[in-house]
Amino acid sequence: MTSLGATDYDYLVIGGGSGGISSARRSAGYGAKCGVIERGRMGGTCVNVGCVPKKVMWNAAMVSEILHDMENYGFAGGESALKSFDWSFLKARRDAYVKRLNGIYDTNLGNSKVDKIEGTASLDGGEEGNWKVKVTGSDGSEKVVTAKNVLLAPGGYPDFPPGDGVREHAISSDGFFDLPELPKKAVVVGAGYIAVELAGVLNALGSDVTLVLRRDKALREFDDIVRDTLDKEMVRQGITILRDTGGVASIVTDGDKKTVNLSNGDVASVADVDCVLMATGRKPLVEPLNLSSVGVAQKKSGHIEVNEYSETNAKGIFALGDVCGNVELTPMAIAAGRRLADRLFGGVPGAKTSYEAVPTVVFSHPPIGTIGLTEEQAKAEYGEANVKAYTSKFANLYYGVFDIPFSDKPPTAMKLVTYGPTEIVVGVHCIGMGVDEMMQGFGVAVKMGATKADFDSCIAIHPTASEELVTMA
Ligand code: FAD
Ligand code: NDP
Repeated sequence: MTSLGATDYDYLVIGGGSGGISSARRSAGYGAKCGVIERGRMGGTCVNVGCVPKKVMWNAAMVSEILHDMENYGFAGGESALKSFDWSFLKARRDAYVKRLNGIYDTNLGNSKVDKIEGTASLDGGEEGNWKVKVTGSDGSEKVVTAKNVLLAPGGYPDFPPGDGVREHAISSDGFFDLPELPKKAVVVGAGYIAVELAGVLNALGSDVTLVLRRDKALREFDDIVRDTLDKEMVRQGITILRDTGGVASIVTDGDKKTVNLSNGDVASVADVDCVLMATGRKPLVEPLNLSSVGVAQKKSGHIEVNEYSETNAKGIFALGDVCGNVELTPMAIAAGRRLADRLFGGVPGAKTSYEAVPTVVFSHPPIGTIGLTEEQAKAEYGEANVKAYTSKFANLYYGVFDIPFSDKPPTAMKLVTYGPTEIVVGVHCIGMGVDEMMQGFGVAVKMGATKADFDSCIAIHPTASEELVTMA
């Protein structure tokens, strides 16, 4: 094993994903000598098996929805276009796009003068100001790199719950992106972002989808208005939802087909399934890091413990992103990474990012956009009497010319949660066509502390769905 004493870094980042790359590039921009150690493809979860390929699939599902709708606008041929859908064509295009992005990330690192170090990193002792990191290459070669500061940004991985045959016969979201063809019959297990997003995509593209919930409804952390609306809409769109199942007891196979046995004996098993997708949560990817070699503290869940400045308990060792388990979203990891760089090398001593009121979109069908407290959370925090909620439910004008009953039109639902006599808007919760592109601007207003009166003082843009948010009574 050789020690590269000459290549001592100011800042060594473990993980070339959203948080790691952004932090390294920002730091290098300030003149710090930086390296990023990555064991896989550049870009991390978001680029390779997360946001990007997922959004491509969501877009495909949107195209299929428009094909279903087009006769209402005087176009014929939707049915035959739908039948022509070619999963493998889309997969090849999507994979090629992701590969292009991998190359762009590599190039950008080089342009920013950040060294790319290939291999799996683990902490290897050292002390404040001189930490040692061992890098093991795919050929088994080892080298040690030393650094003044180390950032741990290794992200997470999909977790499989216990159950006979679950790990062997089910796939995770990673496996979803490898599927060579659209499964005819799919079971999606889980109740979070990934479960509702991928169930929606599969259903829109033509799979027969069953969503298995451990409890009664998906998205437990979200406001009731979006949970209830999505639940009804998934059922209306033809997704079978099995509720209060307690989860999956076992998966057995018969040739290519699978049977999913549910934990609650009251709920029938699901047979003749082509694909079982477990979307039951993710875990921090800490195992290879050898955290104990330098005594970095972890939470019970395994996530790395950090303060608001991304500092671990070991001086000069930082952590951020999914490995810390606090708001597991790409822009959160990027913001934390950049603020850390600003503080360490940019001369901004107090730089940190806020984990409060983070806007987020669930790419379900229809999408959900939300920021801030749910009505329930606001009441728990401020007292019931101090919270007032405004709601609106309607069908988007897009569906106005559809010759179907109102109850069959996909709904839009919105809620503003306000607090106190000045009605500060502490939560905005929307579901419906287009809300995914609506929330960023309203997020700025909420972060600035806007009141209901501020919202109302902004003249509506007509005819749009977003105008409802500034005209609620
Ligand atoms: P990652 O992006 O996971 O990067 C970690 C990197 O570290 C990886 O490349 C890994 O190979 C590398 N690594 C790990 N251990 C080591 C080691 N020991 N040595 C060397 N390299 C190592 N977020 C959104 O905001 N919007 C979305 O639409 C969205 N969709 C998602 C869809 C799916 C299916 C999934 C799974 C996630 C999605 N997310 C989304 C979440 C988002 O992808 C993550 O929050 C984000 O990628 C976290 O960034 P990170 O830097 O913490 O880790
Ligand atoms: P989540 O933690 O969001 O959801 C998983 C849910 O699955 C749990 O909340 C739980 O809900 C349910 N569950 C857990 N165990 C079981 C089980 N054994 N059987 C059945 N259901 C179970 O995880 P995801 O994997 O969906 O996503 C991880 C994170 O990635 C998200 O939290 C989000 O931060 C990020 N992400 C963001 C996206 C976006 O921005 N659009 C898209 C995708 C991911 P319950 O307790 O109610 O049963």
